[in-house]
Amino acid sequence: MTNALRNTAVLCLIALPLAAQTSHTKPVTQAEVDKITREAILIDTHDDVPSKTVDGYDIATPNKRGQTDLPRMKGFLGAEFFAVFVSAEYVNGNHSANRTLQMIDTVKTDVIAAHPNDFEFATTAADIEKAHKDHKIAALMGIEGGHAIEDSLRLLRDYYALGIRYMTLTHFNTNNWADAQGDITDTKVTHHGGLTPFGVDVVHEMNRLGMMVDISHTADDTFYAAIKASSAPIIASHSSCRAVSANTRNMTDDMIRALAANGGTMQINFDCAYLSQRYEDASKPLQAEMRPKMQEARKIADPAERDAAMEKIYMESAAKLPPATLAEVVAQIDHAVKIGGIDHVGIGTDFDGVGCVPTELSSYDKFPALTRALLEKGYSAEDIKKIYGGNLLRVMRAVEQRAAALKGTPAIEATIEKP
Ligand SMILES: [Zn+2]
Repeated sequence: MTNALRNTAVLCLIALPLAAQTSHTKPVTQAEVDKITREAILIDTHDDVPSKTVDGYDIATPNKRGQTDLPRMKGFLGAEFFAVFVSAEYVNGNHSANRTLQMIDTVKTDVIAAHPNDFEFATTAADIEKAHKDHKIAALMGIEGGHAIEDSLRLLRDYYALGIRYMTLTHFNTNNWADAQGDITDTKVTHHGGLTPFGVDVVHEMNRLGMMVDISHTADDTFYAAIKASSAPIIASHSSCRAVSANTRNMTDDMIRALAANGGTMQINFDCAYLSQRYEDASKPLQAEMRPKMQEARKIADPAERDAAMEKIYMESAAKLPPATLAEVVAQIDHAVKIGGIDHVGIGTDFDGVGCVPTELSSYDKFPALTRALLEKGYSAEDIKKIYGGNLLRVMRAVEQRAAALKGTPAIEATIEKP
């Protein structure tokens, strides 16, 4: 909702009797919902289904345990940022680059090449718009976990060349140059107070290449350091609002304002705990129950088996709670818009990466329900198109333009600080 619209809405409410205020929703027709579904380019900046396709899952078949499959994407999703997720477990023994390359390959081979009539490989904002015109889903990639570069800007450049268009500076693990939020692993205990000088170089090199800097999962200090270091807008690829659900993976109002001032966008995460304070509170005792089981699972030597065991524990725990709701997604979007403005909010579902999402938004084919709810709340078609993809396209273009302006500047040759 624009500020002008919001002010008008407030004035209207003052003039209405109390009964009308509580029951008031804007009447919405199915035709309006269908028109937005057709015209908007829905861009999801974080989907973890490659963690399944890498183990043999075919995205064209129904995904019974998850949210992402071709039948439910088609006709609803415009562009997917497939998460090249590299678990912190791969840091042990220096297997991070190997895993990164395997994850990139599963997106290119098992998703895009296996289904050429449905997916179109994309690396630019223009590519996304072209795929939409071709009635295909634009397939992009973002790396989750800065340890993927194994402290080498050469690897960062290789990943860009392979098509990576954002990198989340950390996952749950602090790496050698950036602090994470939470630190659930014990791979690194020394903190840097945000980014080290090499971490600043990573951000500068991402700007030079035209790769979006993603601060989801990072510590608050890392967020502010990245904002300061980056000469292009940055993103939070899958983060919600901490004022609505006080999980530290979410963004504070001050961070939302700083991100808006930077020209970036925060992409609302559909994980029930990040969406809903009610769910977050109810899940705390379950987390305590889960911790010793997780510690046991972490001892499994094979990384794939270990990940599967940890996911199973998490899924079993998450299944014990009633999910967050569509109304709670709307409340998150509404808060982000209220604090940061309509131009700085988008969608980053985290589908297939979390144990719980709202039942009413259990895949892409359910997005018309969100469209309807936002229209009823007073958002215009133009507002909804910005949230669904317009804002992310703007940020991509700004990042591409910054890289074009830096064209000709030499590659950064920095190496990691010696401890
Ligand atoms: Zn994540």
